[in-house]
Amino acid sequence: MRWQWRLYEEPLQEPLVTAKGHWRSRRGLLLRLENDEGQVGYGEIAPLPGWGSETLRADIALCQQLPRHLTPEIIATLPETLPAAQFGFATAWQSVGQLPYRVRSWPICALLGSGRAALTQWQAPWQRGVTTFKWKVGVMSPEAEQGILRELLAVLPQGTKLRLDANGAWDLETARRWFNWLDCYGAGKIEYVEQPLPPHQWSALLSLAQTVRIAIALDESVVRAPELQRWLEWGWPGLFVIKPALFGFPERLSVLLRQGLEPQRLVFSSALEGAIARTAIFQLLETWQPCRALGFGVERWRSAPLLTSLADYTAQWHRLDNYGKSYSK
Ligand SMILES: [Mg+2]
Repeated sequence: MRWQWRLYEEPLQEPLVTAKGHWRSRRGLLLRLENDEGQVGYGEIAPLPGWGSETLRADIALCQQLPRHLTPEIIATLPETLPAAQFGFATAWQSVGQLPYRVRSWPICALLGSGRAALTQWQAPWQRGVTTFKWKVGVMSPEAEQGILRELLAVLPQGTKLRLDANGAWDLETARRWFNWLDCYGAGKIEYVEQPLPPHQWSALLSLAQTVRIAIALDESVVRAPELQRWLEWGWPGLFVIKPALFGFPERLSVLLRQGLEPQRLVFSSALEGAIARTAIFQLLETWQPCRALGFGVERWRSAPLLTSLADYTAQWHRLDNYGKSYSK
């Protein structure tokens, strides 16, 4: 199959503040495949090295090396060190002659701003039907955050769920105190706590998970398929946040689900990918059948509409004409 690739850099609608600084734009690669019958398919490689994937430079080097004609055998040999490329090429190949996909929209979790902003920010999404929210912790002192959290839990309507994301900011002692506090005040509304300790503290994470009542979800600890496999072998009892665009070959996850990994242990989440990757992910969700609200409430930074016609894909490919570069193989 013939193919082309394009480099894009798309400004974010507002800068995203992370522990690693301010992001102002998102870069990635788009793929366009065409078979001998003239059927086309599209894919997107959207790596985030700060979140555990390869670098964009590595993906560009890959695209420069690959031959002019792709085969399933070539795609199958893409290394585990290039998970975003595995996702991009596998989904592009699958899409040839299959576009547009008919995908549905799933319930989404809304991210609340840190600090007291959360106390009112839940209202607008709640009026649109959102019932799952996420609040970042580990930003202020535990006392300050618990004070706000008590107010937030009191105002959130019946039936709503709240996720807390510490992004690995706590130490073991702080985490234990937080879980004790949550046992007293959070029961019923806290869905889970995400990444309470940094990824390298894997044994502390395992022992913490044995002793707490509220579920723990691993996020930064589990980016690529081999990491998920390893935590399963270690007997991790909690949840996993999966960013499909960084995970690697989607089939790896499908196999684990067929082998008995319970879908209710998975939370699917965005890596701020574009519309082509997002639509591919939603097509995969039709088989993965998510049980929990998706972490795709990222429109504030990057809007990535689901693509519903072949013309939508062509438009995505060409909207990069202003700030993308095209390479033919
Ligand atoms: Mg997280």
